[in-house]
Amino acid sequence: MSVQPTISASSVPHLNHLDSGQLSIEEQNQLLKLQRAILESVARGADHMEVINQICRLEESLLSNAFSSVMLLDEHNQQLNVYAAPSLSPEQIGKINGLRPSPGGGSCGNVIYQQKVQYVSNTLTDERWEDIRHLAHEFDVKACWSIPIFSAENKVIGTFALSSFEHREPSLFHRMLLEIGSSIIGIVLNRNKYQESLRQFEKVFEGSEQGIMVTDARHVILSVNPAFTKMLGFTLDDVKGKTPKVLSSGLHDAGFYRNLWESVDHFGHWRGEIWNRRKNGEVFPEWISISEVKNASGEVSHYVGTFSDISDLKSAQKEIQYLSSHDALTGLPDITLFRDRLENAISIAAAANHNIGLLALNLDNFKFLNDSLGYASGDKLLRLFAERLKACLRETDSICRHGGDEFIILLNNMQDDDSISYIVDTLLNEISSPFAFAGSNISTSCSIGVAVYPTDGNDFEKLFGRARKAMSQAKEEGRNTARFFTEKLNTDSLHYLNIAYGLREALAHHQFELHYQPQISLNSAQVIGAEALIRWHHPQNGLQPPAQFISIAEQTGLIVEIGEWVIEEACRQAMEWQKNGLPALSMAVNVSAVQFRRGNLAKVIIKALEKTGLNPQLLELELTESILLEDIDHLLAQLDTLKKLGVKLAIDDFGTGYSSLAYLKKFNIDRLKIDQSFVRDINTDPNDAAIVRAIVQMAHTLNLDVIAEGVEDEAMLKHLRDCGCDEVQGYLFSRPLPAADFARFIQTS
Ligand code: C2E
Ligand code: MG
Ligand code: MG
Repeated sequence: MSVQPTISASSVPHLNHLDSGQLSIEEQNQLLKLQRAILESVARGADHMEVINQICRLEESLLSNAFSSVMLLDEHNQQLNVYAAPSLSPEQIGKINGLRPSPGGGSCGNVIYQQKVQYVSNTLTDERWEDIRHLAHEFDVKACWSIPIFSAENKVIGTFALSSFEHREPSLFHRMLLEIGSSIIGIVLNRNKYQESLRQFEKVFEGSEQGIMVTDARHVILSVNPAFTKMLGFTLDDVKGKTPKVLSSGLHDAGFYRNLWESVDHFGHWRGEIWNRRKNGEVFPEWISISEVKNASGEVSHYVGTFSDISDLKSAQKEIQYLSSHDALTGLPDITLFRDRLENAISIAAAANHNIGLLALNLDNFKFLNDSLGYASGDKLLRLFAERLKACLRETDSICRHGGDEFIILLNNMQDDDSISYIVDTLLNEISSPFAFAGSNISTSCSIGVAVYPTDGNDFEKLFGRARKAMSQAKEEGRNTARFFTEKLNTDSLHYLNIAYGLREALAHHQFELHYQPQISLNSAQVIGAEALIRWHHPQNGLQPPAQFISIAEQTGLIVEIGEWVIEEACRQAMEWQKNGLPALSMAVNVSAVQFRRGNLAKVIIKALEKTGLNPQLLELELTESILLEDIDHLLAQLDTLKKLGVKLAIDDFGTGYSSLAYLKKFNIDRLKIDQSFVRDINTDPNDAAIVRAIVQMAHTLNLDVIAEGVEDEAMLKHLRDCGCDEVQGYLFSRPLPAADFARFIQTS
């Protein structure tokens, strides 16, 4: 080993300020040996802890009667903890840990506190040891020299100290020992930190779920991680030295990539969706983030791309989109999607000069099926209907369920009305052939309304509106049939609007009046009651019968208010007659299902009875059979309240609807009114005669009264009497009369 006679200050770190001339040859050699030994360990790649302990030991060997220690600053807690002190026991180390950087915090505490080297030659008297004097006694430390350890960024990160068991001043040699120790420890610690972060980066790189690719500044791929290989199928060998073009799907144009790199150049990064190609050729969507990496002089040295495969996400999105645009029950497109399709079809048909058929299809009697089978079965049936309908259509047609049991169908590319009629016929036939369902055969039918593009309109609103009108027409004309929209239906809807508007006016301007038709007991031949029947004094059209407006009042909901007026007026009139000396007659009032559904009929009736003082026993409500198919619980509750008050219930137009005996019992009905249609032909049609007889017998078995309406002549009356009917009502006795005429009728009969 060659021994240098002098040591140049520049070869030893941080020694520039020291005068090396005062070191003896012996000391210079010792310092050189120290450095060489340490550098050899560093060069060998020894672990940083091993190197630091070695420095401590070597320094202790060069300073007898002393020990060395390295403490690092815990910045968060502002305290110093021992990092290395090979000559101290763990117990001793425990006692020194937690040293505070403060004016009395000892030599090391002051290095941090004052940010400079501290030489304390008498720890027992020096005020810098004031706070930790007990340690001086306990460790028998008489002098302590401590020097800062610097980070790469020139920040004080700890201390390197030599503590001596005797009072002494540091010589130049001692100071150099400290300088050399602290500077090499600083280097070793910094290198370790760097390696540590490299190790961490490597872990992240290797273990990341995201694919990572690193390129140089010319976009040449340098490395890729395992997730990259898993995602794309390309190994590092496949892509190293190539540019990311190897991944290109060909789905983006040059402008796309130009924008991408402009953003990276400008903002330092780019994020977005890219379609790339896997090694097996499959094209898939990725979410990519590209960032540039700059070197110390601020030039771009690398690009890092991280990406994740978003094909699952995309298909989930598609699924969500599908679900949100389709009916959950039948899987058919919803109205929004259907409209889109119609609009598309219209623009194509316009160019190709084709027709489009728009069908509004409603199942007949579905409500009845739904009520009898239960909602779950009703849902299943709807699915079956939807499947049948779909099976009749072509690929290019569309169908959507528009709530409940209504479907809209788009027939694309039609030549004329005949070709539409052909498909409509198929639909009618398919729906009316029985369904095998839950062990039995279920029969139903549907009504279809047809509007045609371009004749009937050129947008969804118009076509659908007209198809619906035609569908209502089909229903009115006996169901299980189809109707094309015609101008006449349009006039009808104008009529509808006029009436709906007029009814509002009628309410506001008191244009309604009640007429009363007497009801006669066949037993006593006495008038026992009256049925109140509404009339409308139309300002232009004169007196209007209910057939002109009741159904429109029901559709618009105005029947709730109109009905409220009817009930109160009928009760008031009944009381007035009583006050005028007429016998206490029963008053029958017609009520509509809508009044139960939309209004609170029980409340309205209670109010009317209270206000007029009419005996509830004298009030009878005429319900139609269809009411009994409504929401049963809601209806039962209201009827129950009324029955408890003593109000009577009758079923009007009995025999035309669906009521079963079970319903009659459940709703606690008092009277049946046989529909006029049976009475009309009672003398000529043996079937009708038989039905009337059966109704009367059945009613009596159930303890119900029977009244026949529409009795126009003596022959009918005789027949009804023979059948055992209890009461009658009809033109034979009197037409419905205004209140004053009715009073006169009673007084004179
Ligand atoms: P409805 O309750 O079945 O009333 C019997 C209908 O038959 C009445 O017609 C009555 O004038 C008519 N009529 C009575 N006797 C005879 C007869 O011998 N021969 C013939 N051909 N007809 C007879 P109107 O007054 O036109 O009422 C029609 C329907 O309007 C009523 O049928 C009822 O359902 C409804 N309606 C009447 N007033 C109201 C009301 O205030 N509210 C509700 N919701 N509906 C009402
Ligand atoms: Mg009636
Ligand atoms: Mg009737």
